[in-house]
Amino acid sequence: MAEVTVKQLAEVVGVPIEKLLQQMSDAGIKHQHMEQSVTDDEKQQLLTFLKQAHGAVGADRKITLQRKSMSTIKVAGAQGKKTVNVEVRKKRTYIQRSTQQQEDVVEIEEAVEVAPPVVEELPIIQAAAAVVRDRDAVDLDELSPTVSRHDAGERSKKSKAAPKSIPKLKPDTGAKKKLAGSLPEEIRPEDQAKRKADEMARREADEKARQKTLEDAQRVADELAMRGGTELPIDEEIAEPEEEDVLVKQAFEASFEEEEKRQKRTRKSIKHKMRVAKKLAEEHGFTQPTAPMVREVRVGETISVPDLANQMSVKAVEVIKQLMKMGVPAHVNQFVEQDTAILVIEELGHKYILLKENTLEHALSAHLEQQDERTTFTRAPVVTIMGHVDHGKTSLLDFIRRTKVASEEAGGITQHIGAYHVETDKGAITFLDTPGHAAFTAMRARGAQCTDIVVLVVAADDGMMPQTEEAIDHARAAGVPIVVAINKIDKPHGDAERVKNELATRKELVPEEWGGETQFIPVSALTGQGVDTLLEAILLQAELMELIAPPEGFAQGVVIESRLDKGRGPVVTLLVQQGQLHIGDLVLAGPHYGRVRAMSNAYGRTIDVAGPSIPVEVLGLAGVPDSGDGFVVLADERQAREVAGEREQRHRLHKLARPTTVNMDNLFESIAAKQVSMINIILKTDVRGSLEAVQASLLGLGNDEVKINIVGSGVGAITESDANLAVTTRAIVIGFNVRADVLAKKICKDEGVDLRYYSIIYNAIDDMRDALSGLLQPERREKILGVADVRDVFRSSKFGAAAGCLVQEGSLFRKHRIRVLRNEVVIYEGELESLRRFKDDVSEVKSGMECGVAVKSYNDVQVGDKIEAYEVTEIARSL
Ligand code: GDP
Repeated sequence: MAEVTVKQLAEVVGVPIEKLLQQMSDAGIKHQHMEQSVTDDEKQQLLTFLKQAHGAVGADRKITLQRKSMSTIKVAGAQGKKTVNVEVRKKRTYIQRSTQQQEDVVEIEEAVEVAPPVVEELPIIQAAAAVVRDRDAVDLDELSPTVSRHDAGERSKKSKAAPKSIPKLKPDTGAKKKLAGSLPEEIRPEDQAKRKADEMARREADEKARQKTLEDAQRVADELAMRGGTELPIDEEIAEPEEEDVLVKQAFEASFEEEEKRQKRTRKSIKHKMRVAKKLAEEHGFTQPTAPMVREVRVGETISVPDLANQMSVKAVEVIKQLMKMGVPAHVNQFVEQDTAILVIEELGHKYILLKENTLEHALSAHLEQQDERTTFTRAPVVTIMGHVDHGKTSLLDFIRRTKVASEEAGGITQHIGAYHVETDKGAITFLDTPGHAAFTAMRARGAQCTDIVVLVVAADDGMMPQTEEAIDHARAAGVPIVVAINKIDKPHGDAERVKNELATRKELVPEEWGGETQFIPVSALTGQGVDTLLEAILLQAELMELIAPPEGFAQGVVIESRLDKGRGPVVTLLVQQGQLHIGDLVLAGPHYGRVRAMSNAYGRTIDVAGPSIPVEVLGLAGVPDSGDGFVVLADERQAREVAGEREQRHRLHKLARPTTVNMDNLFESIAAKQVSMINIILKTDVRGSLEAVQASLLGLGNDEVKINIVGSGVGAITESDANLAVTTRAIVIGFNVRADVLAKKICKDEGVDLRYYSIIYNAIDDMRDALSGLLQPERREKILGVADVRDVFRSSKFGAAAGCLVQEGSLFRKHRIRVLRNEVVIYEGELESLRRFKDDVSEVKSGMECGVAVKSYNDVQVGDKIEAYEVTEIARSL
């Protein structure tokens, strides 16, 4: 309450200024002037003084009591006793006036109704009513301790008198009687002042309470608003002040007005806050959470920390913290394993959805498989030309391109897009014009098998050379048939027969005319001699292979080449293997996707559509995929995006994830898993002499069960091509007095290829022998432990047939396997269910003793059978 002047206070409490000043002075407050202000403390002081002076009394009250009571009375009527219901309704209001001048102290209103209609027994009912009234009056005393003694006394006087002077009751209106002449004792002015002071104190307390209510309301509203809460029942929370005491109403009107205003402001502010909160909630689409949000987190083989955090709607730091708790040191760019991720998700109270390994890829292949029900047609073979350097690969490719391309195509500017397609009278052929083995193996290393036939170019005047051998190795490893083109036969020194000889003896490529399966075609890339025959040979080979593909539907195939063009962005050569590729198609190639913006063939001609075995150069992909990556056309951009994302992620994890290649360490695991029955080796040596020596020694190591398989060999450094071959064939690379070049080393390291250098032949042989020994199945040796004769067979309820035996040799053991022999023929192999001496279970029964035997799952033991106990031991073998 604000400070007031003496004058104001006097007005408020309703006493003359002089009197108040006197009282204040009595209370020790030395105010002289009516304009002097009175502080709260001074008011309190005054109040305390007045209380002490006159004794505190309860606050003045107006009390209104209402009663309705039903009673049943029995009355004696003309026809005997009868029951009458009496309802008594009462309302009594007591107002204790604070000023002496107001004399009326108590007002009593009474209403008594009688139902059912009262008959002649009125006096009795009246009497009853009086009793009730009297009782109520007594109750009233008990109920209202604040009512002054005078009133109570008055009432009790009245009550006592009641039976004697029962007022005439009017049932319909109720009597109203003003009790005059029963004034309380004279109220002294001191009392009056004291009441005023009390009143002030009460008002103060009330205001404090109201203030608190308001504050509470505000707090609740704020809280609700913060939570994006519901409508606050303001009117309930901020209740109107209780009915004002008549006594002090005017005095505090001013402050009430202020109070009202403040309440209004508060309400307004709360409402405003709620409106803002509601608006915010609507904007962000939040609904008030009823329970902690449980999110579903999609987890693949691995998941990145930010992705994990994101899906759970928590900060990455939270995830990292959780990982740390689990002893997994993590940083924000880390990928975590599926298992770890699951623990984190569960720990944070969310659910996980496991994306099975490559779920998206599976969905993709399912989608592609559906397409495989399309009708198929014979497609053109895809040919890769391989051979030693300078043997004429490029010349041959160029000659074919130059001479065999349809005339309408020939007008275009020939460009090297990595592949081209030719139509001949006998059929179409697609050539991959990336001569060299690196591309071929690199593609294979990525699992792309896009070559149907390898044309091995061997110069007639040069014969078989290291790269010739290598080419053969690669083709063999890929399981691709070889057609040999003996080139440069136009040269006078060319010797086709020598080439055949070398290939047949050293590489087992036996010409057809010698009874083999390989076509040898003498050609000249310079003159074109024999080129047609070569093409026919290729088509013949293709025919044997029955190459088919669906000509319609979404295209899929493989990336042949790709590069980033400054002006055009990623330029990618795709070889369509199935279906049709159209401009505008959504292509997913490796980890990149995009719509085909432009498409042209090897002759620079823009085309709209490309079918199986047609190589095209396309623009529009978002990135540059690797040679050998597969591509597919999808209808759903979301799917393309998801798969691309997954591939990208996997690509990043690739190195950590898998040692797919064989090395000495995991070789034995592979063996254990029976994945390997031979060891693939790529052998490179410094000189041909040592190559043959090492090769022969290694090949001699094997036996019928295990053997060394040399998938590649040659003279010279270990190259990228060797490394790639090792990747695809899961081979161990041995360098005998030679080393791997930088690229090869990198591939071996990245792909986990076991790369070994030796300079002493015996060391190489020993290591390989050990490896092979590991491949050998351990020897199983069986030892007969004992034999018992079945002398008797009886039925046991527990074991079925039980045999009474006498151990003839060795011992019978409970835990070792047994055989049942009948006439020295094995009729059953298994285990013992029980072995007993008399009633006791025993683990062993020695020779000469009797025992009871039950054979597990076997009930057909007969007298005269033999039971043989045996044991198998495994002994590791070595070569
Ligand atoms: P690549 O390294 O295997 O691609 O061999 P090239 O195609 O570059 O040919 C190497 C050399 O051999 C070039 O000088 C060609 O002109 C030549 N050449 C290629 N084919 C023939 C042929 O059939 N006869 C003759 N005389 N020379 C040829």
